[in-house]
Amino acid sequence: MFRQTKRRIAGRKNFEKASYLSSKLNALYSTRLSFYDIPPLDEITLEEFELWAIDRLRVLIEIESCAARNKSLKEIEQVIKPVLNKYLPLSPLIKDNEHIVSQERRKDHYSHFILRLVFCRSEDLRRKFIKNEVILFKIRYNSLQTSERTNFIMLNNDKLNWNYISEEEKLELFDQLYSATSNTIRNQMMLENDKLSLTSEQLKTHIKTAENFIKLPFEKIPNLVSSRSIYLSRGYGYIPSSLQLNLLVIEYQDNLTKNLVRTFQSIPRLEEDDRLLPLLNNLSHNFSSIGSDIEFGAENAGDINHQSIMTKNITKHYPLCAKQLQNGLAANHHLRHTGRLQLSLFLKGIGLNVDEAIKFWTYQFTTGPGAISVEKFNKEYRYNVRHLYGLEGSRVNYKPWDCGYILSRPKPTKNEYHGCPYRDLHMDALVSNLNDMGITDQKDVNAVLDDVNQNNYTFACTRVFELTHKHQLKGNENLHISHPNLYFERSKQLEKAQESK
Ligand code: SF4
Repeated sequence: MFRQTKRRIAGRKNFEKASYLSSKLNALYSTRLSFYDIPPLDEITLEEFELWAIDRLRVLIEIESCAARNKSLKEIEQVIKPVLNKYLPLSPLIKDNEHIVSQERRKDHYSHFILRLVFCRSEDLRRKFIKNEVILFKIRYNSLQTSERTNFIMLNNDKLNWNYISEEEKLELFDQLYSATSNTIRNQMMLENDKLSLTSEQLKTHIKTAENFIKLPFEKIPNLVSSRSIYLSRGYGYIPSSLQLNLLVIEYQDNLTKNLVRTFQSIPRLEEDDRLLPLLNNLSHNFSSIGSDIEFGAENAGDINHQSIMTKNITKHYPLCAKQLQNGLAANHHLRHTGRLQLSLFLKGIGLNVDEAIKFWTYQFTTGPGAISVEKFNKEYRYNVRHLYGLEGSRVNYKPWDCGYILSRPKPTKNEYHGCPYRDLHMDALVSNLNDMGITDQKDVNAVLDDVNQNNYTFACTRVFELTHKHQLKGNENLHISHPNLYFERSKQLEKAQESK
């Protein structure tokens, strides 16, 4: 994928190997699903390297977040499909879209291998990566047409060694196949669509027309043999299409596990490349907290001013980190540097303009115990507020911090309120905050604490969002919280949608 510093002179052997790999690659891009057996061969830019990895990471983070909240595969599919369409689409090949299709498949292929480099480096990272890639593989398999599934199997036949039975054999054995597998097939179909109701005749027609059976020796399918959910005859098991995904997943998972270990062993060579290592390190640290690319603030600007942001009407939409900061400010009439930055940028992100921000900070610092004079505020703090809005100094228009950035900064010390409370608060204080937000059911509290104990802070925050908005959320509306302003925006949107009903 990347050019080595010392190029080797390609001999005939290398040339033959390269042509063999390139023909395999063409075959690889001929289907939407892949076992990712062949590493990428072409060079790509560093920008593509980073962007493609981040896009795949966004998809895996959403999957991880859904799985952490025990969503079923069907529920995960509903959440992931729009995310996949946005960040990692894989369109079927139709007339005149060859170029788009080849670009999409190339991005999918490269991004998978880049993330192998990112996540091969510890047992924990490998486990996480495999778990989420396997779910992605299942979602993609389920979205394939029957003919695409068959093509994928045929393409990988040297690895799978699957034999489809002929139509004649299927007809001849139909009664046995039907009685052995109809219940399993019905259950499988209902898992995918719980509203489905099928008569026996409809099920028979489905099995006749849509189920392609493969025939495998007993020793290759011990679980299916022992569960007696398939037709068994003369040392072979007959497996319908509905159950073939499980076999593919085992193959995919085994392959990926071996390949990640191999990738890890080749990492020392990469360490010579000082362009890649910082990128890879950064990506692996941000597994649960890649920032959102949403533009914040515009929608709310109307009802956001220096007074409204102190009212319950607005603060009820704040994530816990913003609540902590605002409470700390209200209690001390002061916030230290990092806290001021984090809160100022969050407020800017919800739509507080610079004039209102100056009024807000002036009021907070110049009233109550320990207050400073307005002159002192203007001298020491006014410039900083204007600076964050790009009106002073380097005139950079600073963006609100996302969870990844907040979590990458030093933890707060005594009398500091910045950071992420799911990471930084003592358990008792966190539970008391959860109770204040209306999360009192012990099962729910424990689920949040489990996320925290596994260092999954953004998952804990997402779970809290779901629990505190469960009456407004309609089952499949789902969103991983990766940014405090995303929490705020989403909470406001849900309230607005409820009011307009
Ligand atoms: Fe704030 Fe993000 Fe932590 Fe939630 S996860 S409290 S939004 S920093």
